[in-house]
Amino acid sequence: MLFRIESYEKKIFELITLSSKELNYPAYIVGGYVRDRLISRQSKDLDIVCLGSGIKLAQQLASYLRPIPRVTVYSRFGTAMLKHKDLEIEFVGARKESYRSDSRKPIVENGTLEDDQNRRDFTINALAVSLNDKDYGSIIDPFNGLMDLEKKIIRTPLDPEKTFSDDPLRMLRAIRFATQLDFKIHPKTFEAIGKYRNRINIVSKERIITELNKIILSRKPSIGFKLLFDSGLLENIFPELQKLYGVEIRDGIGHKDNFYHTIEVLDNVAANSSDLWLRWAAIMHDIAKPPTKRFVVDHGWTFHGHEALGASMVPRIFKRLKLPLDHKMKFVQKLVRLHLRPISLTKEDITDSAIRRLLFDAGDDIEALMTLCKADITSKNEKKVKRYLKNYELVQKKLIEVEEKDHLRNWQPPVSGEEIMNTFGLSPCRKVGDIKNAIREAILDGYIPNDKDAALSFMHDKAKELGII
Ligand code: ATP
Repeated sequence: MLFRIESYEKKIFELITLSSKELNYPAYIVGGYVRDRLISRQSKDLDIVCLGSGIKLAQQLASYLRPIPRVTVYSRFGTAMLKHKDLEIEFVGARKESYRSDSRKPIVENGTLEDDQNRRDFTINALAVSLNDKDYGSIIDPFNGLMDLEKKIIRTPLDPEKTFSDDPLRMLRAIRFATQLDFKIHPKTFEAIGKYRNRINIVSKERIITELNKIILSRKPSIGFKLLFDSGLLENIFPELQKLYGVEIRDGIGHKDNFYHTIEVLDNVAANSSDLWLRWAAIMHDIAKPPTKRFVVDHGWTFHGHEALGASMVPRIFKRLKLPLDHKMKFVQKLVRLHLRPISLTKEDITDSAIRRLLFDAGDDIEALMTLCKADITSKNEKKVKRYLKNYELVQKKLIEVEEKDHLRNWQPPVSGEEIMNTFGLSPCRKVGDIKNAIREAILDGYIPNDKDAALSFMHDKAKELGII
């Protein structure tokens, strides 16, 4: 079968052919680019395998391009990369790989195109397109990858057990591709993931999180999380999430399965936001339900305090998974901590003060919080869903009204500690903090408006009360 070369590819492919002829290194496009183009998915990473030095081929091609691009050489790996228009082109000599049991780093030797295709992880990733005169544009498909693309199947080219034992990262890649492409994993391939799941322990946390984040950023991340759960891998890489699985029944009363609920919330968030960290907040929002679960007679199941405990679990889990510990973690933590607050604002007799407090606590993340809360509605009862959503719309309306009036989002104290000290001739002490806090509370309670004059007058009253003046 011939690969349909599009007009925007023609020129660059021909120049690669010219370079490869010059050096007498037959060249092929391999891997993800071929796969993605065949299923009409955008791809900007073009991998070229040649029978010779990838570095020399890159340099040769660069000399034909205008402007001449910089060639980045990775001599340790024998590869080179250059950028041309919006393509990132990587060059490597065909290689043969063999593995030892204690590492996912293979012993590498020069090889044929066939050897190179044999070392690829999945049949759909082992497709190659010839850029050589004798069979220019033909697809070389030793493992029926074209059929698997058609049938939407992820399958290893060789024995799956050996494939995963050699490099266990491939187990996560299988699940990641199944999620991104909405493909099924072939039963034998999937079985082997279950069997070799403990091998994931030799893979670095950084590589694991890269794959997990790609799953999370997919259109429907629940596909990946179900596969992680069903294969057993989830227990290895994210046991806290695994623990959300299951329903306990006591006195005929059950609770929902919090694992399936969580991944449904994640899908709901994904439908409305491509923000990785908001998606992480969805994953973490109920993470502390298992340790806070109680059965209260005559009442049923409660998960009292799961939002606070959950927030306190976030840094530990982020650290272990090698996720960033900066403002992104703080954002996730904040959303976990606040995720029940908007529900409490859906009651009819809610005061402006409660709304002000939420605006104050959520700051600029109020919209993200509301997106999470709406996604958290996973009832099967459509009427209920509609009612809850309507309640949230009312909360959002109130939030806008109060914000317009009181400007509490990103609130800055109208009177600084410095001013308090200067006014009353105080040096830094607890009383300064007490006055500052009292001003904030008075504003949040609606006792005084959020403006400087009111705050100054209140400051004097408070100072009197504290015996400062
Ligand atoms: P994406 O760009 O979405 O990550 P990709 O298939 O291009 O998809 P890369 O990680 O860039 O993924 O890898 C390029 C190619 O290298 C793959 O298509 C596959 O043929 C091969 N490959 C990558 N990682 C492995 C691995 N761990 N084991 C075997 N082959 C691999």
